[in-house]
Amino acid sequence: MQQREVGKYPYLIQVEGGDPIEAVLIVGKAEGKTLVVTAGVHGDEYVGIQAVRELLEELQPEKLNGRVIFVPVVNREGFYNGTYLVPEDGENLNRCFPGSQEKSLTWRMAYALEQSLYSKADFLLDLHGGGLHETMTPLVFFPVGAGKEIEELTRKAAQKLSLSYMVQSYAKDGLYSWATQRGVPAVLIERGGGGTWSPEETEACKENIYQMMDFLGILPYDRRRQFPAEIQDAHYETALSKGYWYCVKTAGAAFREGELLGRIEGEDGCVRQEIRAPYDGVLLYHTHSLGVKEGAALMAYGRVRGRK
Ligand SMILES: [Zn+2]
Repeated sequence: MQQREVGKYPYLIQVEGGDPIEAVLIVGKAEGKTLVVTAGVHGDEYVGIQAVRELLEELQPEKLNGRVIFVPVVNREGFYNGTYLVPEDGENLNRCFPGSQEKSLTWRMAYALEQSLYSKADFLLDLHGGGLHETMTPLVFFPVGAGKEIEELTRKAAQKLSLSYMVQSYAKDGLYSWATQRGVPAVLIERGGGGTWSPEETEACKENIYQMMDFLGILPYDRRRQFPAEIQDAHYETALSKGYWYCVKTAGAAFREGELLGRIEGEDGCVRQEIRAPYDGVLLYHTHSLGVKEGAALMAYGRVRGRK
C-alpha cells in the first residue's frame, strides 16, 4: 500500500488460518480520495462481481485523481461453489461484523477486511444483488443509524446513483454497515438476483461505480439515466409457517394501504398468512420460491419519502 506511482497493484488481505483475500489497488495521477469497492461478499450475486471484473480492465490509472481499491470477489470459495455462504464454515459473511480472530474462518475474514480496508477508505461501496430465490428492483441502502454526518453524506452520494430506490437502513452487522458504525461512509447497492446476471445489469452497475467515483472527485462522469426515490419505514416480512408462497405484486410495483401483497397457503389450500400493506408504498424485493419454510424472508417494501 506504499505505492505512489500511477498504476494497478495486487493487494493481498491476509486472513488468519485461511487464503488471503485478493484485492487490486489503483493509484491515480494525483492525490485525492480513496474509494473501496467490494463485490462477492455473497458468492452467488453476480452482477457486481462481473462489473468489477470489467472495470479493472477499463479503468486507466493515469486518468484518476485519488485511488480505488477493488476486492473483485470477497468470498471466492462461495463464488466457485455457487453459494452466498462461506463454504468452509457455512457462515454468512455479511452477518459476521464486527469480525473476530477467535472464531471460525468467516469471522476472521471479517476481521481482516475491517483491519485492511476501513482505515484506507474515504468511502466504501459494497456490491450485492438479490439471492438465488429473490427478485429485486435496483436499490441502494444507506445508513441512518450511524450519526447525522454520515447519513447526510451517504444520502448525497446515493442521490447521484442511477437506480430505482435509495433505502434508509439500520443494519449494523455487515461489511458496509459496520464500516458506518466505525465512522467510514458506506453504502450497499443491490442489483440483479435470482442467480443470474446480464450485460445490461453489469453496465448499469459499472455506471453506478463511475457515478460514485465522480461524487468523490476521482473521475468526472455526468450521465444519469434516473434518480432514486428515497424509501423510509422499510418492512421485512417473514413466513410465520411453511407453505405455498404467492407474491401478488412484482418488485418495484406501487401499492395502496390495505392492499394484499402476498399470502401463504397450506397444503390443504387454507390461507395461513396474509400480508396487507400498512401504508401506500412500493415493493422492493420478494422471494420467488413457491415453497417456503417458517422464518423464510418473503418480501421487503417501504414508503416513498415525501409522499403521503
Ligand atoms: Zn448479498
